Amino acid sequence: MSKTLQAIRGMNDILPEQTPAWRYLEGALADLLDGYGYKEIRLPILEFTELFARGIGEGTDVVDKEMYTFLDRNEESLTLRPEGTAGCVRAVLEHGLSGGGQVQKLWYAGPMFRYEKPQKGRYRQFHQIGVEAFNLPGPDVDAELIVLTARLWQQLGLADAVTLQLNSLGSSEARAAYRDALVAYLNERFEQLDEDSQRRLTTNPLRILDSKNAQTQALLVGAPTLADYLDEESRLHLEGVKARLDAVGIRYEINNKLVRGLDYYNRTVFEWVTDKLGAQGTVCAGGRYDGLVTQLGGKATPGVGFAMGVERLVLLLETLELLPAELNSRADVYLCAFGEAAELAGLGLAERLRDAIPGLRLLVNSGAGSFKSQFKKADKSGARFALILGEDELTARVVGCKPLRDDAEQQNIGWDALAQHLAACLQALE
Ligand code: ATP
Ligand code: MG
Repeated sequence: MSKTLQAIRGMNDILPEQTPAWRYLEGALADLLDGYGYKEIRLPILEFTELFARGIGEGTDVVDKEMYTFLDRNEESLTLRPEGTAGCVRAVLEHGLSGGGQVQKLWYAGPMFRYEKPQKGRYRQFHQIGVEAFNLPGPDVDAELIVLTARLWQQLGLADAVTLQLNSLGSSEARAAYRDALVAYLNERFEQLDEDSQRRLTTNPLRILDSKNAQTQALLVGAPTLADYLDEESRLHLEGVKARLDAVGIRYEINNKLVRGLDYYNRTVFEWVTDKLGAQGTVCAGGRYDGLVTQLGGKATPGVGFAMGVERLVLLLETLELLPAELNSRADVYLCAFGEAAELAGLGLAERLRDAIPGLRLLVNSGAGSFKSQFKKADKSGARFALILGEDELTARVVGCKPLRDDAEQQNIGWDALAQHLAACLQALE
């Protein structure tokens, strides 16, 4: 026997028992974003490597260590997207969607790929739902993004399970000045830093702030803080975001060490965090990236966005048992037919029922089988009614209609009356 093949580590199948939860979450988000006027955009999964090198930035973990990059048959370097913002900006520029200062509010969903160490809540293929807004420089839209996510938590029952962390990275000048001060401070303590942080001191020093290493965190207690370097405009911007969150009663915690993993952020950054999932606690993260569009070759265009981790949110909903029971949709009706003539007639009847009762969940028995075996399958399907069509019923042009969830009697119903009868029975059970 040949060896059975397995999926790549960290790339998961999402099995039929899991997809209802995914659809529930994705559906809730699509409706929510509709309600706020955000439009869906669908983007390729593969892009030229250069897009991410320029967009996310060399020196970030994502670009240096986590990308799936390869040469295609034409010797061009391509990369499976590790995140969605760079591709979204690329598409917006390519199609002139942000030209003339026009406002765009967009969202996308789909798989992202990062070569990370797989563990609970962290995978190599994972899914994000991302939202981006262009040409809106003010704090109103930063707040809107946060407000709409807060509404989602409310709808899903997660409001008490997540908290909002907020920070401002300031202008790129302020950030650069702060970076210099931080590097100077940490250079004096270089030997005490963990190995990762030593490396980051030259590649991406701000990332040291969210190091998980306890000794490094202790060193940081005396370090200069980002807040002291914040430029006046950014400070006002942050106040504007806070005022709006206060106005709608959204609580937040200012976290001076929140810097985000990708290079392109400025001003507002935020994360929604839960303590219910262990180490992988960030379920949604985003911020402002006013410099990214120019970095990718476009005219200066303010941008702000976020991405949610779908796996982590589904896990959270499962962990807290917040998935509605009716998600695992069962059948309404199961049609059993005995003999080929009955099967043919049954098929026609089934299609007429689907025409007459929109949304009907009707399973037609496949693979023939004895009375006993078809009935067993009807029962297992969870259907409320079995329809029985044998030779006698065929001759009399009736169908046996048997309630499966109570002891009510089986009734013979004429073909022409069947749809109305079933619709009424199902309605009565609602
Ligand atoms: P983390 O600090 O957890 O690595 P990140 O800062 O790299 O997150 P972003 O690039 O901002 O994450 O992505 C947004 C969201 O996507 C994260 O908050 C998380 O919910 C999810 N996410 C990121 N990487 C993964 C992954 N490897 N597996 C599953 N979900 C992920
Ligand atoms: Mg990461």
